Amino acid sequence: MRIIHDMHTHTTYSHGLGTIEEMVNQARKIGLSAITISDHGRSHLFYGVKKENFKKMRDEIDALNKKYDDIDIFLSVESNIIGADGTIDIQEEEKKYCDWIYAGFHYSFLPKSVKDLFNFLGRNVVSALLPIPALKKNTRRRNTVTYLKMMDKYTLKMITHPGNRCPIDIRTVAKKAAKNNVILEINPRHHHLNVKELKAILPYGGQFAINSDAHRVPHVADVDKAIRIAIDAGVPVNRIVNAVED
Ligand SMILES: [Zn+2]
Ligand SMILES: [Zn+2]
Repeated sequence: MRIIHDMHTHTTYSHGLGTIEEMVNQARKIGLSAITISDHGRSHLFYGVKKENFKKMRDEIDALNKKYDDIDIFLSVESNIIGADGTIDIQEEEKKYCDWIYAGFHYSFLPKSVKDLFNFLGRNVVSALLPIPALKKNTRRRNTVTYLKMMDKYTLKMITHPGNRCPIDIRTVAKKAAKNNVILEINPRHHHLNVKELKAILPYGGQFAINSDAHRVPHVADVDKAIRIAIDAGVPVNRIVNAVED
């Protein structure tokens, strides 16, 4: 199994080390047919794409698509989940520059409100640190509701590393993702989705993607670990949108 489209890569527009063109050229060099540039949403405290850069990225990608006819280049954003009500940090004016939108949970974001700082971000941080089963269970239940609401609020192409640092009931989320046509990601840089979770959600249908989440040029399509996870879990290649059999 190998991937033909790396759908999740970062560039110097957030905290990646390669420019868009450098990432694209690496993708061409290793024979991918497509690459998606997906830097962090604007509420990421350190690395969020600046509002004015969405148009700049779009223009750059349009120019590269004209320059290279052996690869398709797409623009997305890895939006942050910033509220317990499923709000993500994408604005309408930013959306129009993107081909599609992703959402993922990260720690370093500016929450939607003071309430979300405590009840969503704070709750997840505290729950990860303290061995209190009731708190963990309650946090997981609430996070699951957040993911469900998010999938109703937005047309999402993919959820990146689902449940990473934000525990969820993966079965419930996977059922909804299958219904709403949201791809769930298998990401080699994070612990979710893992083999156990994938095995549990396979019966619910739905599609997956294997992506590098590359932050450096040599890491484009560096997904061996994620391919191993998919194979070990028995995910059929036709359920992985960006993979083909060797
Ligand atoms: Zn991420
Ligand atoms: Zn990422």
